[in-house]
Amino acid sequence: THESHLVGLIGQGVLPSLTPALHEREADQHRIRYLYRPLDLDIMSYEPTQVGSLLRAAAEFGYTAVNVTHPCKQLVMDALDEASDDTQRLGAANTVLIRDGKFIGHNTDFSGFSSALATGLPGVAVDRVVQLGAGGAGSAVSYALLAAGVSSLSIADLDVARAEERAASLSALFPDASVTAFDRGDIGAALGNADGFVHATPVGMHSHPGMPVEASLLRPDLWVADVVYRPLETELVRTARDLGCRVLDGGYMAVGQAADAFTLITGISPDRDRMRRHFLEL
Ligand code: NAD
Repeated sequence: THESHLVGLIGQGVLPSLTPALHEREADQHRIRYLYRPLDLDIMSYEPTQVGSLLRAAAEFGYTAVNVTHPCKQLVMDALDEASDDTQRLGAANTVLIRDGKFIGHNTDFSGFSSALATGLPGVAVDRVVQLGAGGAGSAVSYALLAAGVSSLSIADLDVARAEERAASLSALFPDASVTAFDRGDIGAALGNADGFVHATPVGMHSHPGMPVEASLLRPDLWVADVVYRPLETELVRTARDLGCRVLDGGYMAVGQAADAFTLITGISPDRDRMRRHFLEL
């Protein structure tokens, strides 16, 4: 067929994103026509609340899909004609398919973390998990953890009200699980009887170096997942690995969300290992 794909990335400050290269290189391997362009709100002089207008403009210019990132993942919900069940439950979309003029929302941040967990930490116990950070990435990660069968999820955030809100809304969505907010000062006790620790704050990024928890709270039988992927080897990931913990770096989620979006857009299952190798080269 002469099918071709024109995909955009809507958000603020999206020019440095690695996602366009990740999609295009994988598409090349499948010999399909696929262009992925950043559509930066600031450069195009759109307010985040105008994401619906930008989506309509993209459709008029022939875009077949867009990824949506900060700060539009929740704002875009109002512009959608349809959304997957999980996307509606999460209240946030990062992938929008444009089909016959209709906007169909999906969330591959959550599914990407689910697949990251399954491929990067196969077989780990997921009974009790402690999560630090309840913002954008944290919300998708919590949802993925509960969907993966975590029975007890404890969430802390600098913003205590945010952790409490997330815990309350997730409790309503997953009534069989126990989802609670805790004070981050009590993280030692929380980690004491946890199977895994998931970190979803900006601590450890190049711009926010450091450790989100004291190294003395980690132990070899605790698995540790970080969502931060710049750098890939955060202080948390390095410290945990050196201690003998099983670790999942943030690159797995970044690749997972891109791979799942690629599947939705093209109908083709990408080679995830190859995408991870590409990601590590970028
Ligand atoms: P966000 O601003 O939406 O949320 C961050 C949250 O962390 C906020 O609720 C904030 O209050 C909290 N926080 C900050 N410092 C804290 C601390 N010291 N202790 C406890 N809580 C603290 O940001 P986000 O979009 O969720 O991004 C967070 C990180 O995740 C960034 O490093 C981002 O690059 C990364 N990220 C990774 C992926 C991926 O695919 N791997 C996807 C999205 C975001």
